[in-house]
Amino acid sequence: MIDVRSDTVTLPTDAMRQAMSNAEVGDDVYKSDPTVNRLQNMCAEMLGHEAALFMPSGTQSNLVALLTHCQRGDEYIVGADAHTYKYEGGGAAALGGIQPQTVPFADNGELPLDAVAAVVKENDIHFANTTLLALENTQHGRVQGLDYMRRARQFADEHNLILHLDGARMANAAVALNTSLESVAQPFHSVSLCLSKGLGAPVGSVLLGDKAFIEQALRWRKVTGGGMRQAGILAAAGILAITDGFDRLHEDHSHAQALAELLADVPGVTVREGWTQTNMVWLDYEGDHGTSLPAFAKQQGVLMSAGRNSGRLVLHRNISSENVNTVAAVLTDYFRKSED
Ligand SMILES: *Cc1c(COP(=O)(O)O)cnc(C)c1O
Repeated sequence: MIDVRSDTVTLPTDAMRQAMSNAEVGDDVYKSDPTVNRLQNMCAEMLGHEAALFMPSGTQSNLVALLTHCQRGDEYIVGADAHTYKYEGGGAAALGGIQPQTVPFADNGELPLDAVAAVVKENDIHFANTTLLALENTQHGRVQGLDYMRRARQFADEHNLILHLDGARMANAAVALNTSLESVAQPFHSVSLCLSKGLGAPVGSVLLGDKAFIEQALRWRKVTGGGMRQAGILAAAGILAITDGFDRLHEDHSHAQALAELLADVPGVTVREGWTQTNMVWLDYEGDHGTSLPAFAKQQGVLMSAGRNSGRLVLHRNISSENVNTVAAVLTDYFRKSED
């Protein structure tokens, strides 16, 4: 099966399995797993933050960041379609008493800072304390540029807000911007990065920030059940993800470009213009293809997810350029038939 549902489906490489099997381990709750410590030090160095904490998932990493930065009764500003708000079970509200204040994303995936300014609350007993602004990079595969991120930090400083990045796919942003992980992470007080998506680790995310923040986050990681023991087995794969996995991400981006071009002139489906910036291709179509399209594709050996009127194809390590041609051929076939 050619699986383009997500870049989370990547399978560990032989080198990863080897590294996992050979990993030197200890009890990470006692901070004595050398491989976890190595991964954390590497990530802190590469992203230019003082300290890093290995987390079981991106959801937990964002949650722990919010629990650490905010108090009960605080509010954080977040995109209306942001993962942290929409796809993490309302964890910040459910577990932290932290209220989300949403702002719609602009067409390019930015949260317009004037729209953010309009919802920052004054210090008044009627209002929740607006404490934090959470951004996302990439946002649905769209890259947020360094200039915007720096302006967001300036804005946050002016409004006395903490700036957090849900950087699940920030490595894709760094590659697309032809820059370092550090420059993408630099404007933020805290950053969450997924190792388990395009970077290809089987499990794990990393949360970064200054030492005092990470020390507090360690407590919340334990409270939320994220204290793992011989986690070096997982961190060993994470080390290869952040190094070798990062070095090959550009291949996924060129595969996405190729796929978008192959689908550009297919009748009945539109490649969403300007959105193919990293490893995702977004499709729009008339009529409801939410069930029949994935069913047809599956019969032809392609696993994809699709909504009623739009779908997303995600390129990753286990998709070759030959696979790209197959995916394009299957979709072309489907839409030709449905147009007849
Ligand atoms: C996947 C994802 C997360 C959460 O990561 P999990 O490891 O699946 O919990 C957070 N934010 C964004 C933007 C994501 O794509």
